[in-house]
Parts: sequence; C-alpha cells; structure tokens
Amino acid sequence: MRILITNDDGAGAHGLSVLHQIAKSISDDVWIVAPETNQSGASHALTLQVPLRYREIGDHAFAVRGTPADCVIMGVKHVLKDKAPDLVLSGVNHGSNLAEDVTYSGTIAGAMEGTLLGIRSIAMSLTIGFDPEGRQHWKSPLEHGPRLVEQLLSVDWPESTLMNINYPDLAPGDVKGVAATRQGRRDQGGLHIQERSDTWGDPYFWVGFERRRADPPKDSDLRAIADGFISVTPLHLNLTHERARDTLGGVLSLGGDRNRLKDAG
Ligand code: MN
Repeated sequence: MRILITNDDGAGAHGLSVLHQIAKSISDDVWIVAPETNQSGASHALTLQVPLRYREIGDHAFAVRGTPADCVIMGVKHVLKDKAPDLVLSGVNHGSNLAEDVTYSGTIAGAMEGTLLGIRSIAMSLTIGFDPEGRQHWKSPLEHGPRLVEQLLSVDWPESTLMNINYPDLAPGDVKGVAATRQGRRDQGGLHIQERSDTWGDPYFWVGFERRRADPPKDSDLRAIADGFISVTPLHLNLTHERARDTLGGVLSLGGDRNRLKDAG
C-alpha cells in the first residue's frame, strides 16, 4: 500500500515524524510531501499567485513552498504520478481539530484534497493542553494510530468522506477508548482580535483563541475528547444542508409566469 503523508505544521514538525512512524508501521512505501513552512489555519487554500517550488529533504521526502492542499496535489500529480497513493494521512497536528476548527484546519484540508482526488484520507491531531512541564502525549497517536488506520480501512466509506481523528491529551494507557463522533460546536468565545503595540508604538494584531464548551453534547467530538476518548469523525465534503434546500424549494421564485422556469428546468 502506497501512503502519502502531509501536514500543516510544516515539514520539520515533530507531529509529521510521528505520522511517518505510524505510516511506516503499516507500509514500506511511504512518501512525505509537506509544506516548507507552518500552514496552520491555511484551510483548503491553493497557491495560485506565485509558482510552486519544492525540494527533496530526504529519502522519499519533499517540502513544498505552499499549502497542505498544494502538497497533496504535488504529491499525487507530480511526485507520485507513476502510481497514485492508496492512502493520504495528514498530521499529526500540534493541537486538536474539533468542532468548527475543521473549517480552518490545514490538516483537515490535506485530507480533503486527498478525498477529492479519490484517495481515502485520514487527518490526525493531538490535543495539547497547558501542561506546566510542556508534556505532550505523542506516544498516544504512535501507539493507537496504526490500529485505528487499519480498522478504518477495513470498512467501506461513503463517497466524498474523510476521517478526522483527534487524540486526547493523555498517555496511551490512560486513553479511555475510541468513539465514533459527530462534529460539535463550541458555545463560547470564538476567535477574537488581540491588539498589541510594536516598537514604534503602532498597533498590531493577532487572531486570538478563547474557546470552550462547558458541556459538549453526547456523541460530539468535543465530548469524546473531554471524556478522554479518541474521537473519530467521518466528515463529508458536500456541505449542502438537505433540509434547508427542501425549504428553499418551496420559497424561491422569480414571481409570475417565470415560476415555470423551475418546472421547465
Ligand atoms: Mn497545525
């Protein structure tokens, strides 16, 4: 099985080497095509205004001056054009990708691009808490990741679906289990703007995170992580809301005879 791995934290990120170890435990045919620089928050962006450049950074490993989506396209359509990968893995992200995070995440987007190219794709992220000693539980994805990938590959997936795995901020033996979840929604905060001052006294700004969900609903990705479970959420690339579309069908018209356009169409 040929595996392409990417991430959004950049080719030098520790999470990528963790994902590489996971992939190598599944197959000998593993290829890295990852962004040259940190692309967290890049979402599904494409680089269209400047040329894509890439360089070899190791055996079967390339860094692209671009986004995670660029990397997967470069990987599938250029680096591995002789034989497409059977699986795309993206991550392991430094920090969770839960609830509305999935709309910003470059990690998820790497898996989105693989999915659009018809390749089964899995995103992985590690929840990183605020441990005073800076402990991060990378052993959790290392130990549990290979089995989860094999379990996911043992079942059929609906079309246009990717898998979003989040690991809790726990040592491997402390993880409570694995839960099939749905995308949640945080109920507080959201992103905000932090204003600071530069050397000259001029203001500059950072997008700030201050997001919590006091009591996430059962079966949500947020709940699973809060309860110490690994969360696996199948995400669908078609964003159409079917019930809303049904409602619109009975409301939208141009008025008068032109309503018939709908019937004619
Ligand atoms: Mn990231």
